[in-house]
Amino acid sequence: MITLAGRFLAWLAGAWLGTQITRTRVYYVPPTSWLDRWFFKPTKVIAFTWGETVLMQEAFASDESVLAHELVHVEQARRYGWRWVPAYLWASVQAWRRGEHWYYDNKFEREAYERS
Ligand SMILES: [Zn+2]
Repeated sequence: MITLAGRFLAWLAGAWLGTQITRTRVYYVPPTSWLDRWFFKPTKVIAFTWGETVLMQEAFASDESVLAHELVHVEQARRYGWRWVPAYLWASVQAWRRGEHWYYDNKFEREAYERS
């Protein structure tokens, strides 16, 4: 469910990042939902972005750095279009081949962590 606070936070983070985020939807997933039980809890993922859609554990709704991080991914997805998912996976392979961490050393994650 999109909350007014969520929309405001997205707008605020967008303004801070220097980009306009108008189409982006942020969904806060409550701890009682199947998505939390079957995806967020077992993977320990806090938030997940697919194109313009951000899914986030409700418990992190007030954590602006998580939202800012995910909005960098929204911007990356806009930059790359449909190529973003293969580019992201390829960046993980490249990091792994360098002997680095597939997630933390993925160039898209590095950018998102640097800017959030
Ligand atoms: Zn990320």
